[in-house]
Amino acid sequence: MKRADLFTLPDIFLTKTERKILQVSLHAAGGNRPSAKDNIDWKSFPTNGNNFRDHGKITHEYKEKTDTRRLIVTIDPTRPNAAMDIATLIFQYAQDHIPDLDSYALTLDDNFEIDTTQFCVGWYVAAYQFTAFKKSHRTLPQLIWPKNADKKRAQNIAQGIYLARNLINLPANILGPSELADAAQFMAQKHEAKITVIKDENTLRKSFPLVHAVGKGSQRAPCVIDFSWGNPKHKKITLVGKGVVFDTGGYDLKPSSAMLLMKKDMGGAAMALGLAHIMMGLKLPVHLRVIIPAVENSVSGSAFRPMDIFTARNGKTVEIHNTDAEGRLILADCLTLACESKNDVIIDFATLTGAARAALGFDVPALFSNDSDLAQEIQNISLHIDDPVWHLPLWRGYASEMKSNHADMNNTGTSPAGAITAALFLHEFVDKKTPWIHIDHYAWEPYGRPGRAKGGLDQSLRTMLTYIEKNFVTRKK
Ligand SMILES: [Zn+2]
Repeated sequence: MKRADLFTLPDIFLTKTERKILQVSLHAAGGNRPSAKDNIDWKSFPTNGNNFRDHGKITHEYKEKTDTRRLIVTIDPTRPNAAMDIATLIFQYAQDHIPDLDSYALTLDDNFEIDTTQFCVGWYVAAYQFTAFKKSHRTLPQLIWPKNADKKRAQNIAQGIYLARNLINLPANILGPSELADAAQFMAQKHEAKITVIKDENTLRKSFPLVHAVGKGSQRAPCVIDFSWGNPKHKKITLVGKGVVFDTGGYDLKPSSAMLLMKKDMGGAAMALGLAHIMMGLKLPVHLRVIIPAVENSVSGSAFRPMDIFTARNGKTVEIHNTDAEGRLILADCLTLACESKNDVIIDFATLTGAARAALGFDVPALFSNDSDLAQEIQNISLHIDDPVWHLPLWRGYASEMKSNHADMNNTGTSPAGAITAALFLHEFVDKKTPWIHIDHYAWEPYGRPGRAKGGLDQSLRTMLTYIEKNFVTRKK
């Protein structure tokens, strides 16, 4: 996959068309069912429609003697922010139920009262497929750009989402630590950001001892990606993303079933890069920094072992109780680096624990923060825009599980609250005065649903973008 293709969006929008038109009409649930003005009987099929989640229903109607067709979309009017979700469902519906889709262009009714920019993001997201190694023969529904949609914004957001999904979907034999750094470098250059990639063995051993400890077991050397963009006078936002390109678990080897998806263990890095691309593409007036530790957690003669003790970048000593709890180690050094300069907020993304899935399942990432009000605010935003996260506590009572006989701390917990103990571990490396957000996500769609192709999945990316725009940017109306 060429680096430029990581961002490439499919051709699914038209500005004008010679195709036949399929009108998409939107109605609020409870209102009158639309009837054709010209008093012709509309036939509806499939007869039972398509009930989608709690937002409403889509039916497909056509006028038999002419070629006029339309999709009637009835939505719950209390869910005005579900625009993206609705777009993905209409897209899927069109694919599944319109046999001659390639001769039609879809167009939204003028009175389609919905955030059309978000709708277009949804249209792109629905069209996403990972085709680097297998061609697709899907016919993609074409939509005429809705009048009020902000094209630049929609495309930027979609590109960030595509980038995140593509990076996750790339297998580990293709995407190693240095290839992840290459992708970051390509993106940084595109946006004229200043980037440093620290690969030097000695520097890593001295400055990022935990990154080095985890990554040295692989023949593919670890690195730390660090880039900055924007005006230093603006508010400083630092994103940190876990970049484990493959996680065998190390000597505490994962069983096959748990190892299978571990190419996605750089999902945090993918989210940070996707969000960064959007922020830079939209030229948000912020000072952005992105830090990514990129490693492969392998088994070899040079791999770290249980009971090894390392001194972290901040001077704390850490005893390894489980080599599969490597994500928190590499993040610890990078959070320390982040805190060595002043930040208005630090956000880290990581596919960190199975315990977060046990608590909240695949679809709802766990959110932690040293500021409960902030966590609640972000949770509310996430539910509002259908990109959910759920606040879990940094429960100090479990901190004693990190005790070690011979070091300042160990890298695991002992109770089932593994997502919390992982977050508490990270908390030890964050400056207590800086607002800090930690998101523990799955970054994978296991089933394949509208807008969520089976495979790598962006989670919390739109939520964090909304939070950043709301708190750090005054958008022009
Ligand atoms: Zn692991």
